[in-house]
Amino acid sequence: MGKPTGFIEFLRELPKDRPPLERIHDWQEFHEHLPENKLQEQGGRCMDCGIPFCHTGTLIGGMASGCPINNLIPEWNDLVYRGLWKQALERLHKTNNFPDFTGRVCPAPCEGSCVLGITDPPVTIKNLECAIIDKGFEQGWVVAEPPVHRTGKRVAVVGSGPAGLSCAAQLNRAGHLVTVYERADRIGGLLMYGIPNMKLDKAVVQRRVDLLNREGVSFITNTTVGIDLPSIKLHEDFDAVVLCCGATKPRDLPIEGRNLQGVHFAMEFLHANTKCLLDSGLECSNHISAKNKHVVVLGGGDTGTDCVGTAMRHQCKSLTQFEILARPADVRQPDNPWPEWPKVYRLDYGQEEAAARFGADPRNYLIMTEEFVGDRHGDVKALHTINIEWAKDEHGRLFPKKIPGTEKIWPADLVLLAMGFLGPEDTILDELAIERDARSNAKADEGAYRTNVDGVFVAGDIRRGQSLVVWAINEGRGAARECDRYLMGTTRLP
Ligand SMILES: Cc1cc2nc3c(=O)[nH]c(=O)nc-3n(C[C@H](O)[C@H](O)[C@H](O)COP(=O)(O)OP(=O)(O)OC[C@H]3O[C@@H](n4cnc5c(N)ncnc54)[C@H](O)[C@@H]3O)c2cc1C
Ligand code: SF4
Repeated sequence: MGKPTGFIEFLRELPKDRPPLERIHDWQEFHEHLPENKLQEQGGRCMDCGIPFCHTGTLIGGMASGCPINNLIPEWNDLVYRGLWKQALERLHKTNNFPDFTGRVCPAPCEGSCVLGITDPPVTIKNLECAIIDKGFEQGWVVAEPPVHRTGKRVAVVGSGPAGLSCAAQLNRAGHLVTVYERADRIGGLLMYGIPNMKLDKAVVQRRVDLLNREGVSFITNTTVGIDLPSIKLHEDFDAVVLCCGATKPRDLPIEGRNLQGVHFAMEFLHANTKCLLDSGLECSNHISAKNKHVVVLGGGDTGTDCVGTAMRHQCKSLTQFEILARPADVRQPDNPWPEWPKVYRLDYGQEEAAARFGADPRNYLIMTEEFVGDRHGDVKALHTINIEWAKDEHGRLFPKKIPGTEKIWPADLVLLAMGFLGPEDTILDELAIERDARSNAKADEGAYRTNVDGVFVAGDIRRGQSLVVWAINEGRGAARECDRYLMGTTRLP
């Protein structure tokens, strides 16, 4: 433990983000870094608890409590405090292949369960993680480390999101020859084409892909397994297959006017935007522009926030966001105690930007869309809503009860549906006859990752449903370990 009295002496401090009204004019990341002495102080706030809940990584009430990849947090907090950055990086890489991703995009369940958080603001774990790995790259400490021996076994990984990449990294480390298949034109899954550039710079993703490539992982893009390449053939040609295809089926809203022009799934908007940004600096006409439009985003999660941030950068005319749930409380409630993930009100980056530009948080809570209305050209022009309250039916199940007299019409030229995802796509799973669980995800036990088909493993959102980058990394690493055991009869992968 670096400084026994650190948590008393130093207040929690984070770097200031770039001002919202400045950053909406570009696509660069908005987080800054603290100077080194300040980072060391923040590391010194860690109490090195006897039982550090920050790295427990369990699920309570369906939400992560503690770090899902069991990062050795107290150890690297102490190393940062003592200025031993290279050793801190080594500890960080022991459990996490990509701290440069999680240090930027993770909601940090570790901080929600930090013991210091019972009485004081928690340790700035996520910010320290990001500082360690960024320093590692700056100093040239992160280099390709190809395996010394090859086993001669060949593994196909389908899908190149965080699950596929961490799985490929670990299998390659064990000496297997790994080929990653990706249907998009760039590698990275939702790290590349879901999360926008201002939250995770695509150069940061590409830097890792290049490193993996130099370590011996092969990448094949623009290839949809199950269409361009039969999955049965993959199963025959490789010693094992790991499916990391994500949970990409979006939840639709099949109400009157759904087919009007200007009503899109969030991922159509986000994917095309990043692709156009990377291909041509947003000069191409292939993206959906929000410029000068009244934009309405349906859904208040991460995906909705990314739509808000993207529309703000297009210079939309107005921004409204609907959430069917109630506004969370400002502080933890008695039924949501530590070390659970705190379900509290947060102003995320997109809403902060909309508030700075238009004067208020764009979110409207407890509201339901009933109809999209179009003009004579078939373009969406407005949507009709009604307020709701959550009531219980005769079986005690919650349902949204409409409140008469609260009907409202909102102007809308662009509507983005960000209401979550329903599970994995069917093609490969059907072709390989892989069993599903009750939620239509690929069926495989946590920790085993084996499907009912010999030699076929699953990891990430395809198995657990749409989740978090850190869970995908956890699953990719776990599937690699079990795949290695299947191939070699034993494994030394963690
Ligand atoms: C807009 C958005 C924002 C998010 N923001 C955050 C965030 O800030 N923090 C966070 O922790 N989580 C976030 N998430 C969730 C997180 O991105 C996912 O949980 C995570 O990426 C899942 O990883 P994965 O590897 O399982 O799947 P994915 O990242 O979805 O990758 C699956 C890949 O498989 C490819 N694929 C699918 N089928 C085939 C096929 N047949 N052949 C070839 N390739 C195929 C897909 O093209 C895709 O590239 C966000 C999700 C979305 C949608
Ligand atoms: S729970 Fe918080 S204070 Fe305790 S070891 Fe983890 S980061 Fe440090």
